[in-house]
Amino acid sequence: MADHCIFCAIVEGKIPSHKVYEDEKTLAFLDIHPSAPGHTLVIPKAHITRVEDLPEEDARHLFAALHKIVGRIQEAMGAPASTIGINNGRESGQEVPHVHIHVIPRNRGDRGGMIQGVSGSPQRLNDEEMARIAKEIRERIKGV
Ligand code: 5GP
Ligand code: ZN
Repeated sequence: MADHCIFCAIVEGKIPSHKVYEDEKTLAFLDIHPSAPGHTLVIPKAHITRVEDLPEEDARHLFAALHKIVGRIQEAMGAPASTIGINNGRESGQEVPHVHIHVIPRNRGDRGGMIQGVSGSPQRLNDEEMARIAKEIRERIKGV
């Protein structure tokens, strides 16, 4: 548990939250400034800042918890859909340095956007550039 981390304080019960789910490794609670009713944050109890630094076991647990509750959140809010996203690092908009998955219930006509819009500048890349990019990524993944 990290000092001064608001989500660690929530895990420890030192500050209150509206919890919706808890197991030994994960916690889910309502976002204090909801983008929609039922906006939920699903977090690992361990203080890890970024997805890539989560131990694999914690990553599995986190996604399993998301999988378990996402349909129930939608059902409870009468929402046919949800946007699921992670701000992974400060430049992406991450303000709380403790991994959290946002689950935002969505409705037709809610005037929200799509995840693909978050980077602000869509790219047109030709096939050669795409092939080079894929190779760069593949080479770094190799042996991981
Ligand atoms: P981020 O930008 O880091 O992905 O989002 C952090 C989220 O945490 C924000 O949507 C914010 O409203 C929420 N949040 C920040 N502090 C608290 C808090 O003390 N309690 C709860 N429930 N949510 C918080
Ligand atoms: Zn923390």
